[in-house]
Amino acid sequence: MRYEAPDTLDGAVALLAGASGEARVLAGGTDLLVQMRADVVEPDLIVDIKRIPETRAVIREKGGWRVGAAVTGAELKENADLRREWPGVIEAANLIGSTQVQGRATMGGNLCNGSPAADSVPALIAAGAIAAVAGPKGRREIPVEDVMIGPRKLSLTKGEIIVSFLLPPRPKGSSDAYLRFIPRTEMDIAVVGAGVSLTIDGGGAVTAARVALGAVAEKVLLVPAAAPAIVGSRLDVPAQERLEAAARAACRPIDDKRGTVEFRTQVAGVLTRRAALIALDRAREN
Ligand SMILES: Cc1cc2nc3c(=O)[nH]c(=O)nc-3n(C[C@H](O)[C@H](O)[C@H](O)COP(=O)(O)OP(=O)(O)OC[C@H]3O[C@@H](n4cnc5c(N)ncnc54)[C@H](O)[C@@H]3O)c2cc1C
Repeated sequence: MRYEAPDTLDGAVALLAGASGEARVLAGGTDLLVQMRADVVEPDLIVDIKRIPETRAVIREKGGWRVGAAVTGAELKENADLRREWPGVIEAANLIGSTQVQGRATMGGNLCNGSPAADSVPALIAAGAIAAVAGPKGRREIPVEDVMIGPRKLSLTKGEIIVSFLLPPRPKGSSDAYLRFIPRTEMDIAVVGAGVSLTIDGGGAVTAARVALGAVAEKVLLVPAAAPAIVGSRLDVPAQERLEAAARAACRPIDDKRGTVEFRTQVAGVLTRRAALIALDRAREN
């Protein structure tokens, strides 16, 4: 096995695109190394992207934030401005594993591991985050909801790397939240995860909303019917019920020992409502 740690994107892309056998990007390694130890993957080439400055930066851009794909959850949490504007994204990234895992794990790795239960992905999709991708044919941008197409399946082509995520500007009265259900208190895979981002006007009425659900389908889902269910309301009880119904209607979960179809569908509605109410409280402060 060959290990390379280039310091430019072009160098990383050239290595990945030119590889003859199995090639993998390495970010924090908290999925990849576990899978290699378990012989689930046996790469011929590993391309560590952590020396590439664009993957490690957190900067203001276009009134929003550009967050490098190889920035760890622990590093994200240290940025007070980012935490104030996107508390849901930061809390989702910091639900991943333990303190030790959060010191390594990245949102790029969480997305590219291709798990429908990945914790930071619903929060990124609810945020309307756009993934910046570099590959042999140049750069392109993809909404995060279009990166994962199924369990362990991505829309990225050979040689492509997620470089960063663009989080859009936050209008006044905006915030977000992420909640997950796990049978234990920590260190477990989400049975359901719900991310909500919303904006309210001066009168407290919802003017925009995005909802995404994890672990209830073959990939993390954007729930398009959620916004019309609550936009124009003050998230009163009838609006909450419409929101729950929209979330449940989107679910097509697996049935396994960790959660039946009925249980996951029920919990998806409950978590979506609770996350929306937390986002609403936070939005009132902004
Ligand atoms: C003990 C433990 C607990 C965990 N708990 C959770 C949890 O609670 N919630 C959760 O969601 N996950 C959890 N995980 C899984 C894992 O920590 C996360 O998915 C993490 O975000 C992966 O990030 P990473 O940087 O370590 O990815 P890596 O392991 O480096 O990479 C993961 C995959 O993505 C690819 N990849 C990485 N970055 C890029 C990129 N920029 N562009 C293209 N491909 C890329 C790699 O090739 C690899 O296939 C846990 C793992 C462990 C070991």
